[in-house]
Amino acid sequence: MSEGVLFPAARDPAQKFWDPDAQTMDPEARRTLQDQRVQDLVRRALERPVPFFAQKLTAAGIDDARAVIGVADLAAVPVTVKQELRDSEQTTPPVGEYRFTDLDVCVRMGTSTGTTGIPTIRLWTRHDLWVEYESAARHWWRNGWRPGMSITHAHPGYLYGGGLLLQGAYEYFGFLSIWVPPPETDEIAEQGIRAWMRMKPDIPFGHYSVGRFCEVATKLGLDPYDDVGLERSHYPGPGADAPLTSGGSECYAFVASSCHESPGGHVNEDWVVIEALDPDGRAVPDGEWGSLTLTTLDRDNPLIRYDLEEAVRLIREPCACGETTVRALWGGRIAHLLHAQGHSFQVADIERALLTVPEVSTPSLEFVVVRPKGDDGALSVRVERTEQGSDDSALRGRCEAAIAEGAGVRAAVDLVERGSLPRSGYKSVRLVDS
Ligand SMILES: [Zn+2]
Repeated sequence: MSEGVLFPAARDPAQKFWDPDAQTMDPEARRTLQDQRVQDLVRRALERPVPFFAQKLTAAGIDDARAVIGVADLAAVPVTVKQELRDSEQTTPPVGEYRFTDLDVCVRMGTSTGTTGIPTIRLWTRHDLWVEYESAARHWWRNGWRPGMSITHAHPGYLYGGGLLLQGAYEYFGFLSIWVPPPETDEIAEQGIRAWMRMKPDIPFGHYSVGRFCEVATKLGLDPYDDVGLERSHYPGPGADAPLTSGGSECYAFVASSCHESPGGHVNEDWVVIEALDPDGRAVPDGEWGSLTLTTLDRDNPLIRYDLEEAVRLIREPCACGETTVRALWGGRIAHLLHAQGHSFQVADIERALLTVPEVSTPSLEFVVVRPKGDDGALSVRVERTEQGSDDSALRGRCEAAIAEGAGVRAAVDLVERGSLPRSGYKSVRLVDS
């Protein structure tokens, strides 16, 4: 990164990769680079010191960075989960004992949403933002998107840093980014709808809250697709072959993305060591599900063996696209995996199944799943009906059949009034306890 330069050099739009040197690097050369970057990481953790990680390294018998060879040494280091970061921030306020820099070199902060406890604090230096922006640029380029296009998003901002991170990544790449507010109310959703009808972004909106915008457009008498230009495919959660894309904004937001030629997301391995681990912290064989664990490299504020408690599967076979990195498939948050009637499935499987039933998914699908308690009972699902006067028992049957086919579980569907389930401007709560 050259100082004083805010934006990347222009590329030939016809070239295949954003960063050909990094993305097609000889795997052995990349491993050497990773080894050097792990040595540097360990040296900084011990020399500064960074008490939280120095302790973990000591527990692995690492007390001298000169003895570290590289990636292979990480296997002995205990993993870190989010609760430990939260605890560290509580016992050593405000930012805990796991940071590698002082606050005065950080230029941005954000917090987690706090839905699972007290929000944790994310900090970025200029360099760490640059790593994210370069990683995101590889992602956009892989999608066939190019600087000069216009794009749009509706991520939340302010203390939740995700919106600004995405907006910054878009601007860095050279998109005209049309950032509309998350559709918390119908009135706010209409602001976004009107902006899209004026500006007609080249890459239409198709993210988490697309259903909310479809719903409000319909209320306004507009066709969500022909008039507003929304993407026709709704945003589903993780599927069986979803590519890994994010390692969390607290760790590595743009860790990987799909090349669209082979399954999985290409992992930016020059900036991360990725592992799929069993519950004892040992690597599972390639191709098997393990817990997504990342060590970020060449960062001002890295994390060492951070276990995101999400399912990941690694593929090491070479890819036809020419990129030479490992690829990763994402299976969702492990805590979100549900078990009933001898099957394991995700809320996203229920969502995909219900999307095939037009009477409950046009113009948008609103539903909640009640967390299954025993193993044998029917899965309780509440679904908003969208059409007045439809035959409820036949419609219920179609929803239950779609769930049986799509997720392999027997469900008991309750049809509820349109508008009776809570709405969200971002990620909806789809799993309830009763
Ligand atoms: Zn590929």
